[in-house]
Amino acid sequence: MAIERSALLLTILLATSSAWPYFRRRDIFDNAVDSPNGPMGYMRNFEEVLHALPNNDTGRKVAEWHEQMEINPEELGEYAEGDILFPEGMGRNGLKSETMRWPGGVVPYMISPYFTGVALNLIHEAMDDFHKNTCIKFKPYAGEETDYIRIAAGNTGCWSSVGRTGGRQDVNLQVPGCVTKKGTIIHELMHAVGFLHEQNRWERDDHVLINWGNIQSGRRNNFERATKETTDAFGVGYDYGSVMHYSSNAFSTNGKPTIEPKEPGGLLSMVGEYFFGKTKAVLGQREGFSTKDIQKIRRMYKCAKRRRSYN
Ligand SMILES: [Zn+2]
Repeated sequence: MAIERSALLLTILLATSSAWPYFRRRDIFDNAVDSPNGPMGYMRNFEEVLHALPNNDTGRKVAEWHEQMEINPEELGEYAEGDILFPEGMGRNGLKSETMRWPGGVVPYMISPYFTGVALNLIHEAMDDFHKNTCIKFKPYAGEETDYIRIAAGNTGCWSSVGRTGGRQDVNLQVPGCVTKKGTIIHELMHAVGFLHEQNRWERDDHVLINWGNIQSGRRNNFERATKETTDAFGVGYDYGSVMHYSSNAFSTNGKPTIEPKEPGGLLSMVGEYFFGKTKAVLGQREGFSTKDIQKIRRMYKCAKRRRSYN
């Protein structure tokens, strides 16, 4: 009996260990700039809108945004995926090679004098969250760095480019819509640091359902998926709670959800439902970083292990 049991155990161990690399591979790729091509193989689908000008129509919509609405202000934009826009002067061919990480995680920034004190505080709180949890360092522009971000308060909505584009690049945060929730600021800064939207992940269809019929006409390409080759999640699994995830009603034409979490199914979730009742994941939170958001940034920028602080 003992032999049979250990043989069974060995079989199970072998089966699970050979399955492991397969499961690991499945969640390696995702929504971050990583391969030499960055996310640009994917972003090229947006060529026209990527180089659009910041526009006041978006600004007017964001001006009417309020917290009780079921979508986030950055989902109101007419830009690629709502809030992605590359610098005007940037050559189209440059898109492929120039987008990348910030060396050493240092992001020089300059900030518009047109922010209110309250907005300014929230922007600094968002930056502090990067400093506390990752090795990204936002550092005031000293006038000599070639590449830096300019945080602007134009009436053109909430938007950013993805990754370091080279030269000056804007992160626009319209007041008050884009500076109401700290998570919106973190969202735009995470684009600038090098991340795409969470629901772009190539394997997202395993986790969410896209209701194509509920999407506004002309906005379906906002729901495209990236490919395995262009993006990387650094082994961090799909995250409904990511600050980079669209909300359920993003780009809805009829007030019905455009994107919904899939029921997990399987024995484990049945057991979970039995004990905790049926719950659906909430998409599009903008309170701040999720644990997985932090993991991804730390892995992308190869942040050293956190030193335990004793004081
Ligand atoms: Zn975004």
